[in-house]
Amino acid sequence: QMTDISTKEGPISPSYDWFQTDSLVTIVIYTKQKDIHLDSIIIDHQNDSFRAETIIKDYSYLIHIVRVVENVGKIEIVLKKTENISWKCLGRPLEKHNSLIPKKDTGLYYRKCQLISKEDVTHDTKLFCLMLPPSTHLQVPIGQHVYLKLTITGTEIVKPYTPVFDSLLSEFKEPVLPNNKYIYFLIKIYTAGLFTPELDHLQIGDFVPVSNPEGNFKLSKLQEVEDLFLLAAGTGFTPMVKILKYALINVPSLRKVKLMFFNKTEDDIIWRSQLEKLAFEDKRFDVEYVLSAPTSEWKGKQGHISPALLSEFLNRSSEKSKVLLCICGPTPFTEQGIKLLHDLNFSKDEIHNFTA
Ligand code: FAD
Ligand code: NAD
Repeated sequence: QMTDISTKEGPISPSYDWFQTDSLVTIVIYTKQKDIHLDSIIIDHQNDSFRAETIIKDYSYLIHIVRVVENVGKIEIVLKKTENISWKCLGRPLEKHNSLIPKKDTGLYYRKCQLISKEDVTHDTKLFCLMLPPSTHLQVPIGQHVYLKLTITGTEIVKPYTPVFDSLLSEFKEPVLPNNKYIYFLIKIYTAGLFTPELDHLQIGDFVPVSNPEGNFKLSKLQEVEDLFLLAAGTGFTPMVKILKYALINVPSLRKVKLMFFNKTEDDIIWRSQLEKLAFEDKRFDVEYVLSAPTSEWKGKQGHISPALLSEFLNRSSEKSKVLLCICGPTPFTEQGIKLLHDLNFSKDEIHNFTA
């Protein structure tokens, strides 16, 4: 129930719609106003109740959910009137109201997030921490990415980035606590690149628009997996971060997780000491580095992805164990890797690559 605020002087009454994916439900508010800014929207989720207030001039438009009945597929939305007056209607239906449309047809929705911190991780890769506006609840599903948007010489540019945790060793926060305020990214700065130098120039406190999540990974792929093999090259490591931690904590069938991490040099290895600490703490997890341009001191594995490296690395814990292979890195790396995996008789269902 909403307050009918369609008066001759006041704004047209907003309306709302909602849609869902496997893990997310989105409520969309059509304000019918051009000049609504993010600071006009207030969202809180406390003590099981959800409250969204949109401020339009002198009016408030409220959505207030007090109960979500899980497992029955039923969601009750209770809206609190701002004034105790009787309503003639719920709202004026707008385009696509009350219809189920493909998710891809909704387009990307952005909200401005604030840069909270930026830390060096390697010589060219940094950990960025962005804070969601207080008005937003957004949880990026494991294995998915978002788009960041910047205006560069008058043109809006968007690029995809995969959220990570602030550390491999910090406590697993999702999906137990859905209301994370912060989103972390590991981003490599390319001095000759278009987007990342601009991103690097942002000051603490500046804002960056962040889109809704997208991606083709489904958590169900991890169901009953016994051996998880992660093939990552460079920043292709980013989707592995959450998958790795999720698997170690939430997949009871899991016997082994192996990360084969391809980099140019030792200095390029992201979170090396954390990876080693995790491997020490959890005997199911192993990491192996392969360098394509090592120094002469490097005693470990060398070269690019190859049949020899893969067949040595991909030994199952048992002959018939359920396997998932995740691969991510520069396009030629991923393409070559997938071909090699097929040659090694891994099926399409056993291989996941991350696409935009
Ligand atoms: P670009 O301008 O795209 O240039 C990249 C490199 O190519 C630079 O070294 C540049 O010098 C070189 N280059 C550009 N043009 C040419 C040319 N014509 N010839 C030769 N060389 C050229 N990146 C991350 O760091 N972290 C992530 O978590 C992450 N997640 C991603 C998720 C997805 C789904 C995808 C598809 C990509 C992801 N990326 C991630 C990569 C990211 O989206 C950008 O591609 C990356 O940040 C480079 O952007 P840029 O505009 O700075 O560089
Ligand atoms: P990089 O240039 O540092 O290379 C890392 C390793 O990749 C190299 O050591 C080498 O082993 C391998 N490699 C590079 N070029 C290769 C080639 N032509 N053939 C075979 N192997 C090759 O990598 P980077 O600069 O960190 O780039 C990471 C890439 O991963 C970017 O292209 C980025 O777009 C992509 N990425 C994709 C996603 C996704 O979800 N799709 C997520 C993160 C990053």
